[in-house]
Amino acid sequence: MKKIYLYGNWKMNMLPEEGEEFCRSLADRISGRLYGSDCVDICLFPPFLAIPAVLKALPAGPVSAGAQDGYFEDRGAFTGAVSMAMVRSVGCSHVLVGHSERRHIFGETNEVVARKLEKALNSGLKTVLCFGETLEEREGGKTIQVVQDQLLSAFQSVPEVRARDLVLAYEPVWAIGTGKNASPDDAQEVCAFAAKLALEAFGSGSLIPVLYGGSVKDSNAAELLSRQDIHGALVGGASLKVDSFLAIYENYRKAFAG
Ligand code: PEP
Repeated sequence: MKKIYLYGNWKMNMLPEEGEEFCRSLADRISGRLYGSDCVDICLFPPFLAIPAVLKALPAGPVSAGAQDGYFEDRGAFTGAVSMAMVRSVGCSHVLVGHSERRHIFGETNEVVARKLEKALNSGLKTVLCFGETLEEREGGKTIQVVQDQLLSAFQSVPEVRARDLVLAYEPVWAIGTGKNASPDDAQEVCAFAAKLALEAFGSGSLIPVLYGGSVKDSNAAELLSRQDIHGALVGGASLKVDSFLAIYENYRKAFAG
């Protein structure tokens, strides 16, 4: 039975005290064999200011915390930015790079994403590289080309010894926060393609998980997570409540793993 990655991106939601409360309630829910570290890997991505409170209240077990972004410079005149070293120094183990909201709202190019990825990995952070096409690109039959461009430009900046700290997250832009998820077949096709590119780039020594993100919720989780090349979910809206977040993993387990 495969291990499921259940990653929650809180985006610009949750005050420190709300994050702390979430962790307390998470702690009550995740004891027992179902939540062994060989079965599930949970990571929360709070907004920067809630990270210390979340880390303090983080339950024991397979749960860690990361930042939603980080900059590629170490220090200096970069108002508003937070470096990867800062992310690491407060105790985060993970970071997201290339989330579609960073690409499309904040104008991050493939080049910026590649520089962030390199810095994150060299800072010792497990790094979730998000990628995915827009609706226009999908309807124009360009999904595979766009995904290939995003991944190959980012892979060039991955130091070989750090590839094992890379996690990929396929997030079609049109599925994020819209309630419309990719069909399990479409998600599987792109995740399998990403896994193939990663294998070609890094070899079989680094088993790089590929997550799917985009309106994942309890009702569609089992079908998506059961696909061969989908190792987990990057969850936005449904990660804000413990019940809806854990239901994603629990529904998969109920349906496919007994
Ligand atoms: C996300 O923010 O990465 C995401 C997938 O959001 P949602 O689950 O709300 O679509």
